[in-house]
Amino acid sequence: MNATKQTIEQLIVEPGKPARLDRRDPAWDGGPEFRHFSHDELKKDAAAVLARSVQALEAAHELLWASDRYGLLIVLQAMDAAGKDGTIRHVMSGVNPQGVDVVSFKQPSAEELGHDFLWRASKALPARGRIAIFNRSHYEDVIAVRVHPEWLDRQHLSPGSDGETFWKQRYESINGFERHIERNGTKIVKLFLHVSKHEQRKRLLARLDHPEKEWKFSATDLAERAHWEEYMHAFEDALTATSTPWAPWYVIPADRKPLMRALAASVIVETVSSLGLSWPEVSKEQRAADVRAREALEAESD
Ligand code: ATP
Ligand code: MG
Repeated sequence: MNATKQTIEQLIVEPGKPARLDRRDPAWDGGPEFRHFSHDELKKDAAAVLARSVQALEAAHELLWASDRYGLLIVLQAMDAAGKDGTIRHVMSGVNPQGVDVVSFKQPSAEELGHDFLWRASKALPARGRIAIFNRSHYEDVIAVRVHPEWLDRQHLSPGSDGETFWKQRYESINGFERHIERNGTKIVKLFLHVSKHEQRKRLLARLDHPEKEWKFSATDLAERAHWEEYMHAFEDALTATSTPWAPWYVIPADRKPLMRALAASVIVETVSSLGLSWPEVSKEQRAADVRAREALEAESD
């Protein structure tokens, strides 16, 4: 059992087509591949898919590292409590931590606000051979900031920077930026963890109900929840405008956590395999040097 290409293809936002989040069910049962399982079986089966993907990712990461040609950028966007942290923890559990950077994008600092909105994303890009996971990203500047346009006041922009044209230009900047880094060796995969408003309520209540989860609760989550419709509109618009052949968006149904993690991991593995990496070939000279090294080592007495 593995999440197949067909299942994964259903999650993609086809470039040039509307994302239609309203037609995507956050509680999707995984289609024919997963549908016939009971809840408990699904948990077990999704865990098996995840375990396999984690293994595949470990191998893919080694190849990525050895071939030293591409970096992998994973962008994670979601509403609060959709499960970004858990997804990162589970999906990356098998990967060598030396080769991975998780970068959290919070409210921008004074220094960051002194630069253009892509500056901090650009600084955090993965080097060849490495994986960077953006926990939130440059997309906050067309999502959270779009919901709260008053935050633009802090960005020292030229007068008259707002309105439809302004956001369109930001999408263009993002597409150009991602096009550039993709051409220069960064493979990009963007995941929107799509949780329903109903499920978010359940998870926020669970945080309040359990002392060991209460630390995760933040009053600002509630304030942002009050803007749910505006957020969905901002996501719809941004995903539609920025899902490109070189940096596609995937909408991962997030109401069923085990399935969400399995699907997220499968999409990432699929993305790395699409690079068609192979182990670097050893040159004739190197091989000859290796033969001499072996002789020298074997000639040594213990
Ligand atoms: P968690 O709550 O799980 O620890 P989080 O990603 O929600 O993780 P928080 O510190 O709660 O982290 O929230 C970060 C906040 O920073 C979010 O509300 C996000 O919208 C906001 N943010 C991120 N980037 C920007 C930006 N460029 N401009 C304005 N706000 C931003
Ligand atoms: Mg938060």
